[in-house]
Amino acid sequence: MELMKEYIRKYGVVYSGNVLKVDSFLNHQLNIDLYKEIGKEFYNLFKDYRINKIVTIEASGIAFALITALNFNVPVVFGKKSKTNNMSNDFYCSNVYSYTHQTNYNILFSKQYLSKDDHVLIIDDFLANGCAIEGLIDIINQANASVEGIGIAIEKGFQDGGKKLRDRGYDVKSLAIIESMDNGIVFK
Ligand code: 5GP
Repeated sequence: MELMKEYIRKYGVVYSGNVLKVDSFLNHQLNIDLYKEIGKEFYNLFKDYRINKIVTIEASGIAFALITALNFNVPVVFGKKSKTNNMSNDFYCSNVYSYTHQTNYNILFSKQYLSKDDHVLIIDDFLANGCAIEGLIDIINQANASVEGIGIAIEKGFQDGGKKLRDRGYDVKSLAIIESMDNGIVFK
């Protein structure tokens, strides 16, 4: 997606540890013109699948999932990172290693919001080693729902998450794939 690449080139900041900061337009301040295009693009990429639910993880994934869901006109369910008092005790749980925090955390989904009848599009902001997406796939499997596709805003193609998922047969589509960011950002 050319517009996404333009924003990354202009406003993305590379940090040590292969972390790309996109806080000024995607992850902290959200650029609504770009988000609208992201929603349309994910819709075009996955519209031929029978999708009735979009799944992501709080917090960064929610905006991407929501703008996409507006185009599909389906609900979003997001994984919570901690159990709140008002959450049902009947939930699916998966343990995920966080690339940016370098610790493990649980993602929790109330069982009432995912079932065997769900055909899910997974959406997330970044794909690096694939742990976050693996956690979501685990949850969807626990619910006996099906994964129709995986939409990623920014894939770091020099890390192996995308390859591992595609090798297992998942349809992973990324709006921008970064090949390297050692000396400026190079896209695939
Ligand atoms: P993975 O689980 O695929 O290793 O990493 C993906 C998750 O880590 C994403 O949900 C995202 O929140 C975070 N992440 C991984 N790499 C980056 C990065 O370069 N920049 C930012 N902002 N987040 C990242």
